[in-house]
Amino acid sequence: MSQQPSSINRRRFAQLFGAGAAYFAARPQLSPGSLFTSHKNAVATARKRVTRLSSNENPYGPSPMALRAMTDAFSLAWRYPDDHAETLIDMLAKLNGVSTDQVLLADGSGEILKVCASAFTGPTTGDRKPVQLARPTRGPALTFIPGRGKMIVADPTFEAILNHAAVHSAEVVRVPLDARFAHDLPKMLAAAEEGLIYICNPNNPTASITPKDELRELIANCPRETMILVDEAYFHYADSSSYESVIPLVKQYPNLIVARTFSKIYGMAGLRCGYCIAQPELIRRLRPHQTWDSVNIMALVAAIASLKDRNQVNNGRRLNAETKAYVTGRLAKLGYTHIPSQANFLMADMKRSVQPLISALRERGVQVGRLFPSLPNHMRVTIGKREDMDIFLSTLSTILS
Ligand code: PMP
Repeated sequence: MSQQPSSINRRRFAQLFGAGAAYFAARPQLSPGSLFTSHKNAVATARKRVTRLSSNENPYGPSPMALRAMTDAFSLAWRYPDDHAETLIDMLAKLNGVSTDQVLLADGSGEILKVCASAFTGPTTGDRKPVQLARPTRGPALTFIPGRGKMIVADPTFEAILNHAAVHSAEVVRVPLDARFAHDLPKMLAAAEEGLIYICNPNNPTASITPKDELRELIANCPRETMILVDEAYFHYADSSSYESVIPLVKQYPNLIVARTFSKIYGMAGLRCGYCIAQPELIRRLRPHQTWDSVNIMALVAAIASLKDRNQVNNGRRLNAETKAYVTGRLAKLGYTHIPSQANFLMADMKRSVQPLISALRERGVQVGRLFPSLPNHMRVTIGKREDMDIFLSTLSTILS
């Protein structure tokens, strides 16, 4: 005997939603995220509290409107996510002042990095003969043009894209950040040859920015056969007058791609949703490298709801700025400086080899960023909640004393 799936889902949804709402009402001090911690994790965490300052996540979590939207969408889990994807694309196009064919959604902005590496890097000897592909169930017919050229990155920077380029047998060229911890754009441009220049702004792991005038100049002077990917994952946290998003430049430059994510200010790292903005022709070049329907329906409804929540971005910025000021003040009192941070993490100069400190903190339940070999004395620390930072600071003081 079969039952209507939708009626089961509706009933089950009502039970779950009722239980969830009652729980929050009774315990408003608890973060809604804690409800979704698996039993196994809850037991492990109870045994050993871990302070997680290692992945530049947003400790305040998703918008309450996103949590509600996901709860409401449980009963839609059987459907492919195309309608919701279209809604989100419409909203992102409006938000960014572009047309819908200039937006590509992805399974986190990490997927954008991956598809850019596969579309635009590869052996320079490779041919570029276009290959016609089968038409997907939705959207226009696809043509695949093999990628060719070097991957040019800063050192240090977010490394994921290096791996993707290496998988495509592309040569990877690392150009050290300059003395200001900005991208050395003239050197990056000089090294470029077809392929892709990756600019992470603000940069992970240094939390530093590359000034807007210099970035504009690079984009204007870059040969059109070299693609430029500007990764703006931490855009919302940057408040320097020298910083700007380059999304408005996309209409002028056919070789510019800008990546954004819902993992940071929108607190959705576990849901996986990101996107990029570029001219339609570039979006068409990226599409063949992507899994069809790669963004799940929960992530889509949460992203749609997050964009409607006026408070999410402002609260996230304010709380991050307040806690960052607190931590940097305390670090200064301990005698440690940091690279000026335009993000939700900072790089502290520990004036000694940092690997033993990272390990000692981890043994005491405090996780900070991994070692970045080109900055062996710097420690990357995510700005968590105030109480997380107090644990970090007191554990650090104990280790150092
Ligand atoms: N870009 C940068 C600079 C990052 O730091 C990260 C993750 N920390 C990503 C992209 C990938 O983020 P996601 O796939 O979660 O959007």
